[in-house]
Amino acid sequence: MDILIATNNPGKYREITAVLSEADDSAHPKVRWHGLADLNRSIDEPHEDGETFLANAVLKATCYSRAASMWALADDSGLEVDALGGEPGVHSAYFDRSAADRPREERDRANNAKLIASLRNVPPERRTARYRCVLVLADGDRILATAEGVVEGRIIDTPRGGGGFGYDPYFLVPELGRTVAELPPDEKNRISHRGQALRIMRKLLHDLLSAV
Ligand code: IMP
Repeated sequence: MDILIATNNPGKYREITAVLSEADDSAHPKVRWHGLADLNRSIDEPHEDGETFLANAVLKATCYSRAASMWALADDSGLEVDALGGEPGVHSAYFDRSAADRPREERDRANNAKLIASLRNVPPERRTARYRCVLVLADGDRILATAEGVVEGRIIDTPRGGGGFGYDPYFLVPELGRTVAELPPDEKNRISHRGQALRIMRKLLHDLLSAV
């Protein structure tokens, strides 16, 4: 079974492949994972106009699966800040619209600056937030499995750490006393929204393939 990891985000791709490769081989003897870069042609990114992470993940998984003619696993994820009514949410990648056409690192910087400016007058105890990740596995237009993971945290003003990507330097995990960017990759994957969703997906995939 060939399965495409349908993401252009290098941070997500690194984390997804790391968690999938943690799996004991006997769990997935039938799976060969592929990245978009392994395909011999490029696939246009679908326009993510869904109102939920699930809608966008379905859009990406089905679009890439149809285009590549193989099963596809897509991730839609983002940051929900309580004091901002759940924003940036599904708009996390393009929170600062004025940076929409810039390269990813610049976009991340602009998004982080907007986040901190939006929370200027919000005291630490009201800066609660969470990362949410929804994964969808599709075979063409057919949804085979979905999985969700959440990690709770708090937004701080001064960035800490050089790991991860996106909002990680500003996302403090209170129980650990560290931002996600301060966690080594394996520790981020152990606690993160994406790590949790991937472990659920791995189990669902195992069950699906056992039934084939
Ligand atoms: P998507 O590709 O539309 O799902 O965009 C997800 C966006 O949410 C990313 O570009 C980041 O801004 C944010 N995001 C999702 N997961 C993470 C994470 O693990 N760390 C930091 N930012 C994240």
